[in-house]
Amino acid sequence: MPKQKVTIIGAGLSGSLLAIYLAKRGIEAEIYESRGDMRKEEMSAGRSINLALSDRGIAALREVEMDEYMLAEAVPMHGRMIHAVDGQTKLLPYSGREGEYINSVSRSGLNMALMNEAEKYAGVRFYFNEKCVDFDCKNGGAILENAETGERKIIKGDTLIATDGAGSKVRDAMLHGGIPRFNFSQQWLEHGYKELHISPGDDGDFLMEKNALHIWARRAFMMIALPNFDGSFTCTLFLAHTGENSFEQLERQHLAGKMSSGRRRSVEDEKSLLDFFQTNFPDATPLMPTLTEDFFANPIGNLGTIKCFPWNVGGKSLLLGDSAHAVVPFYGQGMNASFEDCRILNGLIQRHGTDWEKVFDEYGALRKENTDAIAQMAEENFYEMRDAVADPIFVRKRELETKLEHAFPDYFSKYSMVTFREDLPYKVAKQKGNAQDKLLMEICAGIDNISEIDLNEVMEKVKTV
Ligand SMILES: Cc1cc2nc3c(=O)[nH]c(=O)nc-3n(C[C@H](O)[C@H](O)[C@H](O)COP(=O)(O)OP(=O)(O)OC[C@H]3O[C@@H](n4cnc5c(N)ncnc54)[C@H](O)[C@@H]3O)c2cc1C
Repeated sequence: MPKQKVTIIGAGLSGSLLAIYLAKRGIEAEIYESRGDMRKEEMSAGRSINLALSDRGIAALREVEMDEYMLAEAVPMHGRMIHAVDGQTKLLPYSGREGEYINSVSRSGLNMALMNEAEKYAGVRFYFNEKCVDFDCKNGGAILENAETGERKIIKGDTLIATDGAGSKVRDAMLHGGIPRFNFSQQWLEHGYKELHISPGDDGDFLMEKNALHIWARRAFMMIALPNFDGSFTCTLFLAHTGENSFEQLERQHLAGKMSSGRRRSVEDEKSLLDFFQTNFPDATPLMPTLTEDFFANPIGNLGTIKCFPWNVGGKSLLLGDSAHAVVPFYGQGMNASFEDCRILNGLIQRHGTDWEKVFDEYGALRKENTDAIAQMAEENFYEMRDAVADPIFVRKRELETKLEHAFPDYFSKYSMVTFREDLPYKVAKQKGNAQDKLLMEICAGIDNISEIDLNEVMEKVKTV
C-alpha cells in the first residue's frame, strides 16, 4: 500500500510535534510554514519567549522520546512567588507533593528541537516562507503563497492538518462557506500583554528566586516573570488596552509624538513609565535596566479565547492546537493542551489507522468538551492570578491545599489536577476542582489561621463533593 501523506500547515509547536508522531507511524508529513526557518534567521520579538511546560505536554514529549532532552534545559518552577507592593515576597507552592512542579522552557528552543527531531525522519519535509492563503473545503486543496516570489500553488495530500495557530486560514475557509453552520466565537480580553526583560547578574546569576514563577498582582493589572536558562527572566506585563493604567495611557505621548512629528519618545514619556513601574513594581524596576527601550520597542499582544466546531471537514482536514481552541495563557496550558491534542490524535490513529474521517470525527467528539473546559479555567485563572493571590482567604486556601496534598496522597487541588494529572481529562479536573474550591474557600473564610483546621475533617468533606 502506498504511504499516506499528510499536509501540515504551520511549523509551530504543535505542527512540529505532530510531524514526529506521524513519522513514527510511517506516515509522510509535508509541513508548510509562513515564516522563514527560525533555525537560520532571527525571528521578530513579541511572542512569549518562554513557556510553562507541565505534565500534559511532557506526556506527549515522552511518547516521542523528547522529554528528557527538553527538560535538561528547563528551569523548574516550584510555586508562585507573590511580590507585594512593599517588596515583600511569599512563595505559594504549586503542590504539597515532591516532584510536582512546572518547567520554564524556551519557546524557540523547544520549537527548533522539535523541527530538528522531525527532520531526522525521511518522510518529513519542511517548506518555509510558504503561507497558506486559502483552503478548498470541497476538494481538500490548500493554496500556498511564497513570501519571497509571491508565487502561488495548490497542494493536496491524503489529508491536511491545520496547526496554523489562532489566526488560522484553514479555519477561516471553514467559517466562510466551507462548512455550513460552522460554529465560531472569538472573545477578546480587555487586557493585552507586552514582554519585558530582567537581565542576569554580572556572573550570570539569577537576580530573583530562580525556581519560581514571579507574580506582581495589582488587581487591575499584573506582571509575571518566568526564569530563563541563562539567568535572565522574561516578564510579561498584562494591562488593559485602554482606560486608567492602560497601554494606551502609558504609550499615548510616545505614539502621539511619533505620529505628528516622527520624534523619538520624550523624557516625559520615559518618566511616566518609570513612575508607573516604581510605584507598582518597586522591587522589579531596578532589575530592569532596559525597561524603557523594551517597553517602547516591543509590541502589544492581544489575548483572546477562540472556540469553533466542527474541527474537521470529513477526512479532508482537521484543525488542531490553537487553530481549533486558542485560550488565554493564565493556566499555562495552551501549548500543553495542543501537545495533548497530538497525543490523543496519535492514539486514535493507532486504533483506526488512516481512516481519517473516523479518526477526526472521534477526535472532535472526545476533545471538544475538554478544550472548552480549559478555555474557561484559563479565563477564570486570570482573575485568580490578578486579584485572588493578593486576597488573604485565597492565600489561606492555597496553604490548606498544600497541606492536604502533603498529608493525603490521593488529594489533588484543581491546579494540580489540571497541571500534574495528564490521566484526568480537563473536564473532570474542572468539575471536581470547582466543587473542592468552593468548599475550601468557605472553610478558609471562617478562620484566621489554617493551623486551626483539622485536616482529617476537611478531607472527609472533600470526599463528599
Ligand atoms: C503571552 C503568552 C504566553 C503563553 N504561555 C504559555 C505557557 O506558559 N504554557 C503553555 O502551555 N502555553 C502558553 N501559551 C500558549 C501557546 O503559545 C500556544 O497554545 C501554542 O503556541 C499553540 O501552538 P500551535 O502550534 O497550535 O500554534 P502556534 O505556536 O501559534 O504556531 C502556529 C504556526 O503556524 C504558522 N502559521 C500561521 N499562519 C500560517 C499560514 N497561513 N500558513 C502557514 N503557516 C502559518 C505560524 O508562523 C506558526 O509557526 C502562551 C501564549 C501567549 C500568547
